[in-house]
Amino acid sequence: MSTATAAIARHWIDGQWSDSGEHRDSVDPATGEVIGSYAMADVKEAQAAIEAAKRAFADPAWRTDRLLRARVLNRMADRFEERTGDLVELLGQENGKVHDQGRLEVAFAPETLRFNAALALTDTGTNSQVTDGELSMVVRQPVGVAGIIAPWNSPVALGIRSLAPALAAGCTTVMNLPWQTAQTNSLIAELVGETPGLPPGVANTITGGHVSGDVLVRSPDVPTISFTGSTATGKQIGAAAAANLKRVGLELGGKTPLILFEDADLAEALPIVVSALIVFSGQFCMTGSRLLVHERIADQVRTDLAALLRAVQVGPASDPASEMGPIIDKPNVERIDKIVEDAIGQGATVIVRGGPVTDGPLAAGAFYRPTLLEVRDNSMPIVQDEVFGPVLTMQTFSTEAEAIAMANDSQYGLSASVFSRDVDVPLRVALALESGSVWVNDWARLHDQFEEGGFKGSGLGRMRGFAVLDDFVEFKHVRLRPGTTPAA
Ligand code: NAD
Repeated sequence: MSTATAAIARHWIDGQWSDSGEHRDSVDPATGEVIGSYAMADVKEAQAAIEAAKRAFADPAWRTDRLLRARVLNRMADRFEERTGDLVELLGQENGKVHDQGRLEVAFAPETLRFNAALALTDTGTNSQVTDGELSMVVRQPVGVAGIIAPWNSPVALGIRSLAPALAAGCTTVMNLPWQTAQTNSLIAELVGETPGLPPGVANTITGGHVSGDVLVRSPDVPTISFTGSTATGKQIGAAAAANLKRVGLELGGKTPLILFEDADLAEALPIVVSALIVFSGQFCMTGSRLLVHERIADQVRTDLAALLRAVQVGPASDPASEMGPIIDKPNVERIDKIVEDAIGQGATVIVRGGPVTDGPLAAGAFYRPTLLEVRDNSMPIVQDEVFGPVLTMQTFSTEAEAIAMANDSQYGLSASVFSRDVDVPLRVALALESGSVWVNDWARLHDQFEEGGFKGSGLGRMRGFAVLDDFVEFKHVRLRPGTTPAA
């Protein structure tokens, strides 16, 4: 597709398409080829979107009508479901996701929208007659314009994860989606923005980066920010938002430990370990990146896991045989490989080197084969820092307490997996882990009914679950004194 003839992916502001004039190319990371072009948002587009959302919030039509909100969210869910194939195709083309993984991502959108449609109807405050003759109630009211910032690694699932509760709560929204997925963003904007019944200005979507994101974070007209991205950016956003005392929901980076106890069913566990590493090519906040193995099963794990990782079929989404797609771009391939080289230089032992694909038909793309390194020192950067690529470290432990201490010795606390056939160990370990999600004999199973988020440097607040609306509502205490004189 040539940029001269392709439609330009645009922003959706105030109920219409908007073209900022600065056009850039969208690139397929599997081939390096240009697949379309997009309009990039700057300060002006972010401000226009905020103004539109502010006007839409001033009109009570949306914020006071929960039946309307529920209807619209359910219709939006249907629209995402109907266009699943197109979304999966686009995620394959510009995000590199193999189709099974694209479907995994896209399937979240309708489920999240429907769950939040239900929350729009069922969210209630509390009331109590604290003393005779009076009634106190707490009403939950939408906070205003919600600024949503999502990363490129899963724009459909993560954009909707913040958008749906914001809309359910009665907020109006500006969603800043990443330029790396501009073509996908454009379809998201269409599916959201053109939903029948959605008033203009309620849900604005722009394609941008840190410049337009920063406008949302600093604007006094945006009282809440729902951010998904790296811990470093999350800290900057939290600091900048503090100037206006705005609230921030932060879903940040992770360094998920996968703990294999001696009694783990390895035939079942190791394929899950492989998935935990290769889903989204390791560019997943919950990527299983630290394997902690009981020393008595370490030899078997080294051998069996190495065989499984070497067999992973790396390739483009367009090839149905591909099990893992490319990294988002070549600079990230180089970044990941430098981290691996540094770790080897610092004493990591190579079990599977993996690394960039530099010859054959895949060489033009940003492919990186899975890597497994064994390390002893938990303080090494390869263990402590998020790599955001298919790189797994392996460490051994001899006691449950040692495994817990190693897992918790991290700035992150997003998620963890525990593999064991014991009845007592998994729950005991799960309760001791400093982690927002823990899976037993599984990995990355998320449900809209249950909260998701991070301990420590992995975030603030929660997405999903019944706590999800809290970032988007104010609590107001109203006390009624209808009259204390008893009726005659
Ligand atoms: P990033 O933090 O670099 O950027 C995320 C988005 O924030 C960008 O697309 C950009 O639009 C915006 N941005 C960047 N700097 C900004 C600033 N100063 N002010 C306002 N907006 C700004 O992250 P990334 O590299 O795009 O994404 C990968 C990171 O996201 C990883 O760390 C990953 O773990 C994390 N992540 C977390 C979750 C979660 O749910 N916890 C989910 C997916 C990804």
